Amino acid sequence: MVTRMVELCRDSLTEEQLMEAAALLRAGELVAFPTETVYGLGGNALDPGASAKIYAAKGRPSDNPLIVHIADTAALPVLARDIPESAMLLAKRFWPGPMTLILKKQDIVPKETTGGLDTVAIRMPSDPIAAMLIRVSGLYIAAPSANASGRPSTTKAQHVYEDLNGRIPMILDGGSSAIGLESTIIDLTGEKPMILRPGYISIEDVKEILPDVLYDPAVLKRERNDTIVAKAPGMKYRHYAPKGELTIFEGALSDVVEAVRAHALEKVNQGCCVAILASEETKDSYEGYNVYSVGDREDEAGIAARLFDTLREFDRMGADYIFGECFNTEGVGQAVMNRLVKAAGYHIETV
Ligand code: AMP
Ligand code: MG
Repeated sequence: MVTRMVELCRDSLTEEQLMEAAALLRAGELVAFPTETVYGLGGNALDPGASAKIYAAKGRPSDNPLIVHIADTAALPVLARDIPESAMLLAKRFWPGPMTLILKKQDIVPKETTGGLDTVAIRMPSDPIAAMLIRVSGLYIAAPSANASGRPSTTKAQHVYEDLNGRIPMILDGGSSAIGLESTIIDLTGEKPMILRPGYISIEDVKEILPDVLYDPAVLKRERNDTIVAKAPGMKYRHYAPKGELTIFEGALSDVVEAVRAHALEKVNQGCCVAILASEETKDSYEGYNVYSVGDREDEAGIAARLFDTLREFDRMGADYIFGECFNTEGVGQAVMNRLVKAAGYHIETV
């Protein structure tokens, strides 16, 4: 299959430009498109065949459910039942935006889309290309991150091309995703609201609406511990990982820098290709190494936006070993560290 890249500009976007993509989706085909979180691999959410194609294109395990993207809250009762008041309050505050709600599903949503579950994940994206594509197609669009399963999520059309070229007919190129990390997932089907995946919308933001919201314990996990199983099926898999072995170091910053340098030197002396995941504050301390700064340590949103691209950079340069720093867990920093810890396969050393 030939994969076509279609360049779009958000400021001069027209419905005509999305007609072909919408027609592909209506015909049961897949189209990758930008959202404000990451690029999504879209298919008709109510068509089991389209969902099957998504799993096949990504190499995604079939028990890992897809998020259904909508353009209007009127879609909620069509897709979900027994919708609690809390869902409407959250929707009013955070949609369109980087928040996904887990609700009980209506029969119309096929089990192929929900990974066999009786619940459905729903999000209304704010990116104008995503929103217009949903409207023009007249569909609800199932769209997981548009990466090959296990690899870092895609924040640029080029990343999607790297992973899915030849497997899908079209990629809509809208430049870099503004946020760069996947949505905050909030489960509203249990006794208490629970964050299954941290994202740009922090637990503090959610508490303003739902003061009793909790984290799924798996979110805060810092070590490999098989007794704590994530409630979001996708969060239990090895994920976001570069091909090289990533180790991150936690502690006072000067001790972290020293440890990173020592480990890097040891591997370089063994003839390995080594990369360092650093920040603006520390990058000059690693002179002579392949250093990648993800930004200012105080700028969690900036780090979030660059993280996945940087993880992919390690693959492009062929790193065998990557040594990196830990970051603050304030606000979106919690989501950054959640992804980084998983990318490192829980390989964290305290110094
Ligand atoms: P992605 O689209 O790649 O961001 O992955 C979607 C995430 O949402 C995965 O971690 C899924 O496990 C999670 N998810 C989707 N639907 C559900 C659901 N019904 N219950 C719990 N988690 C879900
Ligand atoms: Mg994903």
